[in-house]
Amino acid sequence: MKSKVHFDFIIAGQGLAGSLLAWFLIKADKRVLVIEDRNCHGATEVASGLMHPVTGRRIVKSWRADEFIPNAVKLYQTIEQELNTHFFYNTPILEIYHDHGNRNDWMNRSVTSGIGEFIGKDYQANELPKSLKAPLGGLELKMTGWLNACQFKNDMRQWLIDNHSYEEGNIDYHSLEKNEKHFQYQNITFEKLIDCRGYYSMLSKSWSYLPFNPAKGEEIIFTSDTDLWKDFIYHNTFKIIPSENNEYRFGATYSWNDTSNEITSEALEKLMNGLTSLLDAPFTITGQRAGIRPATKDRRPFMGAHPIEKNHFVFNGLGSKGVSTAPTLAKEMLDFLLYEHQINPEYSLERFTFPGY
Ligand SMILES: Cc1cc2nc3c(=O)[nH]c(=O)nc-3n(C[C@H](O)[C@H](O)[C@H](O)COP(=O)(O)OP(=O)(O)OC[C@H]3O[C@@H](n4cnc5c(N)ncnc54)[C@H](O)[C@@H]3O)c2cc1C
Repeated sequence: MKSKVHFDFIIAGQGLAGSLLAWFLIKADKRVLVIEDRNCHGATEVASGLMHPVTGRRIVKSWRADEFIPNAVKLYQTIEQELNTHFFYNTPILEIYHDHGNRNDWMNRSVTSGIGEFIGKDYQANELPKSLKAPLGGLELKMTGWLNACQFKNDMRQWLIDNHSYEEGNIDYHSLEKNEKHFQYQNITFEKLIDCRGYYSMLSKSWSYLPFNPAKGEEIIFTSDTDLWKDFIYHNTFKIIPSENNEYRFGATYSWNDTSNEITSEALEKLMNGLTSLLDAPFTITGQRAGIRPATKDRRPFMGAHPIEKNHFVFNGLGSKGVSTAPTLAKEMLDFLLYEHQINPEYSLERFTFPGY
């Protein structure tokens, strides 16, 4: 690194949160350095990347989906265009009916629960690919898609490097020095520190008071010679996401008892069973990976300024929906940092009491 460099912002972590916030800050002509420890295995590089506008068994609209999803599509496409790359796929989801009750619920809820704009064609079983086990058919959902999040992260890293805004390493908070004017870290001085370290933030003294609820997830990659439509995502409990060359991603599991990044045989078994119940074709598993979702107890992000540490901020808690929520939230974080806009009380840090050190 060059000596005596000054930045407006240091961002710790280059997952979805850090990458998108850096994008907005650099576009606003701020001097930014993102410090990323690639040995940490964040959530972004293993995320299935799905943007699903409907949540859970109750079949309700996902939180602000009608706002978050169009914003996300627009931003990912803008970045793709500028970086001359491709990581976002505007693909519909085929929601596979579990049973007759589930089919009825979808039919009723598509009229009554404000999700009508996402509802597409109701497919009968005989209209679907033969290698898909969907005896009751399925429902097309529109305004959906998936982000190849690992590709996104790699492309954003290169863009940051090209903008002299990236450094690899584990930011050591103990080596941060602070005086009245700025922070000093090694031979860098900077004004503001933003913590975007995902799950790892909860291990730090500054943010351990926040009620994180980390959720480990695992997914598998498989190859199969199937007649599955390549321009659809297939979802019931798990999802099959076609990628290139007969390769598919399948996941993801949830576990709240394990915060290691190790892949497990339990998850593999669960995923194999799930895949066998959906796919009527031979397959070969070519990979398995794990990561920790930075989920929170109240299922809302953490955004704002530390209650007592001046110029120290957090943008975190994106949970299992970061792909659709992060673009809008990163813009709101920018408006808070640069233009003093208030953070929405639903996800502002002000909803928690800081217990002190
Ligand atoms: C298996 C799985 C499947 C998922 N599927 C989906 C999905 O389909 N749709 C969806 O929307 N979301 C999904 N998610 C969730 C999504 O991945 C997260 O919401 C999002 O990636 C969180 O981004 P983040 O930047 O907050 O955290 P992270 O991606 O974890 O980024 C934190 C970064 O901080 C870095 N870091 C940590 N400590 C330090 C340090 N001391 N110094 C420097 N760098 C550090 C890490 O290396 C990491 O890159 C999934 C997650 C998993 C694990």
